[in-house]
Amino acid sequence: MKPCTSDAHKGRPKEGVRLVNPGVQRGSTVLFPGYEAFTAAERPFFYGRGGTPTHRALEESVAALEGADQVFLAPSGLAAVTLALLSFAEAGGHLLVTDSAYDPTRGFCEGVLRRMGVETEYYDPRIGAGIGGLVRPNTVAILAESPGSLTFEVQDLPALCEAGPPVIVDNTWGAGVHLKPLALGAAVSVQAATKYLGGHSDVFLGTVAASGSAARKVAQGVRGLGLATSPDDAALVHRGMRTLHRRLAVHEETGLALARWLEERDEVAKVMHPALPSHPDHALFARDFTGACGLFGAVLKRSDAPYLSAFFGALRLFGMGYSWGGYESLCIPTWPERHRTAVPWSAEGQTIRVHAGLEDAGDLIADLEAAFAAANEVPEAGS
Ligand SMILES: *Cc1c(COP(=O)(O)O)cnc(C)c1O
Repeated sequence: MKPCTSDAHKGRPKEGVRLVNPGVQRGSTVLFPGYEAFTAAERPFFYGRGGTPTHRALEESVAALEGADQVFLAPSGLAAVTLALLSFAEAGGHLLVTDSAYDPTRGFCEGVLRRMGVETEYYDPRIGAGIGGLVRPNTVAILAESPGSLTFEVQDLPALCEAGPPVIVDNTWGAGVHLKPLALGAAVSVQAATKYLGGHSDVFLGTVAASGSAARKVAQGVRGLGLATSPDDAALVHRGMRTLHRRLAVHEETGLALARWLEERDEVAKVMHPALPSHPDHALFARDFTGACGLFGAVLKRSDAPYLSAFFGALRLFGMGYSWGGYESLCIPTWPERHRTAVPWSAEGQTIRVHAGLEDAGDLIADLEAAFAAANEVPEAGS
């Protein structure tokens, strides 16, 4: 079965006269028919916090996507990342985190984990096999994010996995479609389901996919932290997944069209899209990924506020807002230089991030073209 076929068919009721979709089951208390069922060693459901059939159906679909034995749901993508980290963290431990990590992930390491006595060391996302030189006897995990969602460096995941400690991958960009971290040797693959799995910018959810002993660690973490998610949100994400591969194909094609167009523009210093041959990590990307999503970066030559105000102010189809992975296009300025510590980020001008939605690529290019025209009216300081 091709992936778009299984998107349409997995995790659905199979028997009898039935609705197309699994029901949305809300509930806290689960009732058992008697003493034997109540005390059974294996209970598929025992309390609503541990999930209902609505959650199970989504977990099974994500597990199939990620190639994992088990999937755990968290209330947001960030909560999925922090759950994964907490599942491996130990007082006195050392954690390696890519310098390109999602900024709130760093915030968690610098705040909660530091107070717990976990030391975080940031590594160059292009370190590859050199990670071995940073691993210590007390290294509890390596957190990778590939490509970084602001700066788009691709990480050599098999090389990171060779180093020994369990590797946790933030796989939000690959969406479980274009990158399969567990197959490359990672212990855990995390996604902000808020992005492409949900796909409609109307829900928060995170997924943590793992197998074997890593899954047992995450299971303990979920139970210990008391995390619960809404069945309505689980059903919304599952609905989004029905069109995941189909949507992603359009996001990819449109993103590439925008990236190629931007690469030709005089206003643009560089485009950061790993599927383009111009990207420094393109070979790694071609080896480990089957395709791209719609998110990429660029550096504009100018960075003065009046220019940027005119540029962003003229955009009609691209919204300015955080998050991505929905059907709508977005374009925002970013400041990677504010977060990086292992490898300082320096760029010629303003870094931006573009999310290609499902609109027509020609319409989106016309929108960008109009925005450049408006911005170019703004004289450069000193000229
Ligand atoms: C958005 C995002 C998250 C966090 O997801 P939320 O659902 O917004 O909490 C984590 N990692 C990456 C790479 C993201 O883009």
